[in-house]
Amino acid sequence: MMRQGAMIAADSTLTEVLAYANDRDHKDCEACNHSCQMGAGVFAPGQEKEVATFLHISEHELEQKLEPITRFGTTLKRPRLLCQQSRPYGACVFWDTEKKCTINPVKPLECRTATCDPIGELTSQWFARNHFVKKQDPASWAQWQSAMRCADQQLPETRVPDSQKDDHDDTGEQNAGR
Ligand code: SF4
Repeated sequence: MMRQGAMIAADSTLTEVLAYANDRDHKDCEACNHSCQMGAGVFAPGQEKEVATFLHISEHELEQKLEPITRFGTTLKRPRLLCQQSRPYGACVFWDTEKKCTINPVKPLECRTATCDPIGELTSQWFARNHFVKKQDPASWAQWQSAMRCADQQLPETRVPDSQKDDHDDTGEQNAGR
């Protein structure tokens, strides 16, 4: 259940979004990693270098394990999917049945912010809004607004003032502000 005062908006900080995603009080997480077997989260720009360092491989070698994904006019990278029989989905290349996520300390930001509970749609929208959507690009912004009209939950552009909100550390990384 969402904590009182909990709200994700486009201008939420990464610190706040991660706090929600990692808060086991507001979700019934069985850590099933189901999504890792059906897809993969997306890297924020610049994250790939730390993955190559973590795996002790070159960035060129890492490129072979990644694939581009384009949303709202922006192309980023995600782990390659091991699709079978031409299906559009498959397990993440970094998924291991026994070890689970083999790059857990440096996994894509979208994996870090994802959660399966009802707020998960909002954290997913937050990632898209801050890393794919370009508000200054009319086509990108129109696509985003269209997606919001069809969504079960709509990500607010700004946080709702809430006097009971936890005293979060707002000194963390800010969103891209796009
Ligand atoms: S990088 Fe890790 S957490 Fe993300 S989809 Fe792949 S296995 Fe899952």
